[in-house]
Amino acid sequence: MRRTPRTAAARRAERRGHAAPDPARSQEPRREDCPWCGSTRLRTRVRARRSAPEAVRPGAFGVDECRDCAHVFRNPCPAAEESARRDHHDAPGSAYDRFTERLLGARESARRHRAAARALGPHQEPESWLDVGTGHGHFPEAAKEIHPYTSFDGLDPTRRVHQARAAGRVEEAHRGHLTDPAVLARLRSRYDVLSMVHHLERTPDPRAELRAALAVLRPGGHLLIEAADPGRAFGRLLGRRWVPHGSPHHLHLVPPANLLTELEALGCAIVATDHREPHLPYDLAGALALTLARALPTPDARGRTAPLRTALARAAVPLAATATAADHVLAPLLRRTRFANAYRVIARTPPSSA
Ligand SMILES: [Zn+2]
Repeated sequence: MRRTPRTAAARRAERRGHAAPDPARSQEPRREDCPWCGSTRLRTRVRARRSAPEAVRPGAFGVDECRDCAHVFRNPCPAAEESARRDHHDAPGSAYDRFTERLLGARESARRHRAAARALGPHQEPESWLDVGTGHGHFPEAAKEIHPYTSFDGLDPTRRVHQARAAGRVEEAHRGHLTDPAVLARLRSRYDVLSMVHHLERTPDPRAELRAALAVLRPGGHLLIEAADPGRAFGRLLGRRWVPHGSPHHLHLVPPANLLTELEALGCAIVATDHREPHLPYDLAGALALTLARALPTPDARGRTAPLRTALARAAVPLAATATAADHVLAPLLRRTRFANAYRVIARTPPSSA
């Protein structure tokens, strides 16, 4: 761990001349009810700390849980203006994405993506596939190995989708949000499959996102969703140091039972669910990295803390390697238990209407 993503993000922000956003103006008012079921019986999962304003510092955001439906959400949520600023600058969420990519490793990510694409295999041979929240297009790149005759397009609010197109990972690059009426009008009823791999967590209104997803699918099309499961053991044990709790992008963690109920209410048939394959082996290494991010001294403009930061980060390298190894060694066991941290749902839209 030579350099934390927090440092990298801070350096990039300095180079671009960005001031850190004012937390008071960049957030919506705090909610007193559950955005999923309306219950006012909320429980604090992660209490926000004013002293932790950085993107990957654990505790920078408050996370609440509904006692009635178990929905978990960031509270307060970032204001729409702040979300648009992030989409435009690809930051600071992209720093967190690189952080999680490094935790998992490129080989593990590609293996996971191929497994998700393969899970659809027995159900259909798609001609057209839209990956929503595609980022650099790593999911379609891996899925293409499983479905070589499928045409993959990508949708993402950031300019990374154009880089994905330039790299040949997607055929069409669409920049924006699925719920944007202009995007929806352009893509309506075009696709056999729509994938959201750890994207639903990032949407300000997951129900609206699901309705929009069904609208761009053809009748009888398939929806493939992978998402973090907030009800699993690591989420409760690690608290603010659980990776899905710390992401500045994660606004909603939808329990699988709620998602299945919603999809069925929208007329979908549930084709498959799985907790084993989608498990992400990063809980221990992520918790360690987030702990270090909090423990390291804050970088100052003159770089006076740099030697200490470097020394501490270097000292943590063997520990980080051990945590990563433990995540991977334990994964085959954990993915069969309450520690499996993510889930996959494949649903089919109604045959005659979308
Ligand atoms: Zn609720």
